[in-house]
Parts: sequence; structure tokens; C-alpha cells
Amino acid sequence: MKHGLKPQLQLSPRHRAAIQDAAAAAYPNECCGLLVGEGDEVVTVTEVVPTANTADDPRRAFAIDPQEQFNLLRATRGPLENGKSRRVVGHYHSHPDGSAAPSRHDLAMAYDPEALWVVVATSREGASPPRAFCRPEGADTFVEIELIA
Ligand SMILES: [Zn+2]
Repeated sequence: MKHGLKPQLQLSPRHRAAIQDAAAAAYPNECCGLLVGEGDEVVTVTEVVPTANTADDPRRAFAIDPQEQFNLLRATRGPLENGKSRRVVGHYHSHPDGSAAPSRHDLAMAYDPEALWVVVATSREGASPPRAFCRPEGADTFVEIELIA
């Protein structure tokens, strides 16, 4: 992502539902997973890949299993047969009894300006609609990006 440019994130209803279902199932823990996709100005998610939450306290934090992340990064390297390239475009996680926005703790972990963050809030009743964010290069906060279907 170039400085000052915000992409749109295209997340199909099926992929939104997959994230919300995983988040609701993980409650009261945080869920997490990786997003595979393609594109620059409009980043289209093509796969939602759930990963284990390896955080010490999964009720309050998430940590994507580094081995799973490594395996996926390796699997998505190189162009597809149709000439398009796919890559890990970001990740998602949930905030049990919290809000669908990145926390201060998340900000401390947001070192990759290319990564798109999808966050949902969960409660006993289920999961909120997802929201998407990024932390542009040099920015000291997250900015919300538009989610399209
Ligand atoms: Zn968080």
C-alpha cells in the first residue's frame, strides 16, 4: 500500500459469514485467521484461512501460529495459472465482549503497513459484522477502510 492510499477490501457474503461463524464459535476466546487475496486498490479476499490462536491468554489476545503462517506464505508464493498473483493480504480476529475495532494492543502489533486487519466483536449472542482497518506507513493510528461485497 502506498503512503496515503487506502484500499477497499472486497469480502464476499460467504467469507464474511465464515469469519463471523469462526468468531462466534471461539467465544469467549479470540479467534484468528489469515486472509488470502489479490489486487491493490481493491483487495479481493479469495480465501479465509482459520488458524490456531496460540496467545498465552486467548480471551484477551490473539497470536497466529507462526508455522501455519509460514506454510501459507510459502503456498501462496508465485503466480497462479491465470497469471494473477495471490498473497496473504491480512488477517482477522475477534474481540470477545469488545468492539469491532483494533485495540491499543493491536496497534502495538501493527508493524506491517501492507497488512489489512479485519475485526469482529463477539458476545454470547454471536458476532458483529466485520470492519476493516489498516495502519498506513508512518501513521500512528489505524484507519478504517471500506468493506465491499
Ligand atoms: Zn484485537
